[in-house]
Parts: sequence; C-alpha cells; structure tokens
Amino acid sequence: MKKLLLTIVILSSSIGFSQHGLDKDITDIESKVIEWRRHFHQNPELSNREFKTAEKIAAHLKSLGLEVQTGIAHTGVVGILKGKKPGKVLALRADIDALPVPERADLPFKSVAKGEFRGAEVPVMHACGHDTHIAILMAVAEILSKNKNKIKGTIKFIFQPAEEGAPPGEEGGAKLMVKENVLKNPDVDAIFGLHIGSGQPINTIGYKPGGALAAVNSFEINVKGKQTHGSAPWSGVDPIMVSAKIIDGLQTLVSREMPLTQEAVVLSIGKISSGVRSNIIPESAQMIGTLRTLDTKMQTHMHKRMREMVADIAKAYRAEATIDIDEGYPITFNDIDLTSQMLPSLEKAAGKENVILMKAITGAEDFSFFQKEVPGLFFFLGGMTPGTTEAFPHHTPDFFIDEAGMQLGVKTFIQLSLDYLNN
Ligand SMILES: [Zn+2]
Ligand SMILES: [Zn+2]
Repeated sequence: MKKLLLTIVILSSSIGFSQHGLDKDITDIESKVIEWRRHFHQNPELSNREFKTAEKIAAHLKSLGLEVQTGIAHTGVVGILKGKKPGKVLALRADIDALPVPERADLPFKSVAKGEFRGAEVPVMHACGHDTHIAILMAVAEILSKNKNKIKGTIKFIFQPAEEGAPPGEEGGAKLMVKENVLKNPDVDAIFGLHIGSGQPINTIGYKPGGALAAVNSFEINVKGKQTHGSAPWSGVDPIMVSAKIIDGLQTLVSREMPLTQEAVVLSIGKISSGVRSNIIPESAQMIGTLRTLDTKMQTHMHKRMREMVADIAKAYRAEATIDIDEGYPITFNDIDLTSQMLPSLEKAAGKENVILMKAITGAEDFSFFQKEVPGLFFFLGGMTPGTTEAFPHHTPDFFIDEAGMQLGVKTFIQLSLDYLNN
C-alpha cells in the first residue's frame, strides 16, 4: 500500500496526467509484459535473423496506431509516436537478438530453438536478456500511445537487431541503423537505453556518467621471421620469440603509460598461432587480441603506441611485424549533462536509495554508436531475485532473469520520457 502511494506521488510531479490512471496502466500491463517476454524467450532468433521477432513487434506497434518502419538494418523496427504538441524528439532503444547458447534451466518457457551460426546448427537462447528489453519497450510504447494527447514532442521506439554482432561478413546493429538514418527525420535530440542484469537485484537501477562501458578494438598482429632448423636459431629469425616480446611490450604499455587511476584499460591476447613441430623455427606468427578503453584520449594513445611497439620490437630483433586495429565499438559514453538532468527521473522511478552509482564495465555495448550521434543515457536494470547466492553470468546456459524486475524498466522509461519531453 505504501509502495502504491509512493508510485502515485512519483508520477504526479512532472506530468499533467491523470497520475492515478498512468500508475494503473503500468500495474495493469505487467502480465502482458511477462507474456511477451516468455514468447520471445521461447522463440529466440540470432543476430540479423530476427524475422519473427520483428514481425511481432511491428504488429504490436501498428495495433497502437503508430507510424511503423520495418527492415531497418535488416530486421530493425521503428515506431514513431507523435504527441499532441510539437516538441523535442526522443528515442528509446531495445536490442532484440539472442545468442548461440543452449538453455539449461528447467523453465516452463525454456528455449529449445535452433539457428544457424557460422554454417553450423546451434541452440539459440536469449542469454543476454534482450527478450526482457523487447517486452519492456513494447509496454512503454503501449502506455505512452494511450497517453499521447498529453505528450509534447515525438518518441521513436527503436527495436535494434544484432547488438551481439552481425555474422561474419555482414553489417548490422546500431552502427548500421545509424548509417540508415534511424536518428534522422525527425531528428532525434536524445536517446535512452537500458540493459537488464542477472547479477543486479531487482528494483534497482545502476548508472554511471561518462564512460560506462568500454570501447572495444580487436587487433591482429602478424610477425614475419625467417624459417630455420630449431637446432640453429642464429641462422634464422624466430617469430615466436619476437611474439613473446611483443606481448610483453603491449602489456607494459597498459601498466606504464596509462593513467589507470582515471580509467581502466585492458589488453588481452586471445590467440597465438605459429609453427608445426619441435625442431623447426617457423617463418611467421599470428596473434589476435582485444583492447578495452573507457577514455578516448587513452584509446588514441594506445593505438599509436601499439603500432610503434609492434613495429619497433620486431625491428629490434631483425623481424618485421604489422598490426591491424579494427574500428570496433566506441565507448558507451553517458552524456554528462543529460545524465545529471535525468538522474532525478531515475530516482523518482526507483526510489533514491535504489539508484546506484556504478563503476565502469570493460564489456561493451553498440548503443555507443547512437551516443556518438546524439546525447544518450544508458542505464542498468536489476534482474536478480534478492538473496540469490549465485547469479549466472550473461551469455551462459544457466543465465536467469527474475521477471519481477521488468516493471521498473517500464516505469523508468516512462518517467524519463515524460520528464525529458514535457519539462
Ligand atoms: Zn550480450
Ligand atoms: Zn546484451
């Protein structure tokens, strides 16, 4: 009862709405949110293959009377809601793809779906919780549509494919949506997004101004030596030894040249391959790795010094080496002004004590591509049952989300939207 009262007060402060009505809308939609989520959970689809998922989303948005665009970045869906009065344009984003992971938990709506990944048949599961993101945003679209006469401005509901990455050789995700002008016509002024977390208690929100999730750059290093007999290394150039020195040098860049008290930097070599047998020093060696940064200056410095380090170390040992660093994902950077402007809305939705200032995460999100274009706020929603002793990580077969956590997602998106547009 106390909680209900609190909710009514919360929603009354910023809107000219029938607060009680809106609050009731949010409560009433919970069973639908759960039903939608279970549907998507049981029918997961891999990145760039979200055909049925997109169909169901589009049908829902059309049923609400929204202007609907489909086929954006392959399977993306956008719904446009025009408020009664003109105003700012806000985008809300949900990612919609699943992963090649077998579901182990014994849920009544367990996924037994299969898909194709890299030419092989694989089990498919919503092992990152994007099913909850879809259900939450469908509910937000429904409630805001019902109340569109009281909205000043426009809302774009963006249902984005391939957040986990497009299959090899394909484009996809937020980057492709931006390329296909999803933030234009009408031009978006700000964007909000959320991610549910299996290890964060339900009814809580996590946020961080500035760099919240890392930029990712994959890199590939090729070392060219000179093949010779393993018993006489002086007659060749050993690319494996040179690779070891390069790995050492790259890690030293992190420890000696990065101001690590400001932001984290992580560099990992994930694969090294060379050689055929014990008594041959091979001709060449290859390495691939990942770089994670949370600050653009630090990222730029790392790229420059990695190139120098790789070439110069190789040269010092009479070898040659090249490095290719890919464009990767940018930093998920929460606009400082927008974050402080919207913090009261997060607190109104969740209760001040339930809004947690987080540390940065060295994982990544392609929401960052939207934030490169317009100010954005990406926050974290709790999906863990309180008192849980072991929360299974995202992308694993036992990954589990407490559905009771979704309600706060609905409420928070609505609070953010109304406060942003109407104030
Ligand atoms: Zn994921
Ligand atoms: Zn995810």
